[in-house]
Amino acid sequence: MPAYKSLLKRAEWVTAGKQRKCYHHGDKRIEKGEPCLEVKEDLTTRGYCEECAFEMFEKARQELDDLQRPKP
Ligand SMILES: [Zn+2]
Repeated sequence: MPAYKSLLKRAEWVTAGKQRKCYHHGDKRIEKGEPCLEVKEDLTTRGYCEECAFEMFEKARQELDDLQRPKP
């Protein structure tokens, strides 16, 4: 049987190699050496700080819970 397709977008933690901007915060910097969550969408890769990533994981959990229940 083939592997099940993932419902999740492609995301991975990287260590910022240089200072970069959090895509959600605009004004928030991710300093060199700090973790940065890279989310790939289509051909774009966006980086998010730990604080935003935490919120995004919380939101994703809720969305998955909601999505799992078939709608009448
Ligand atoms: Zn952020």
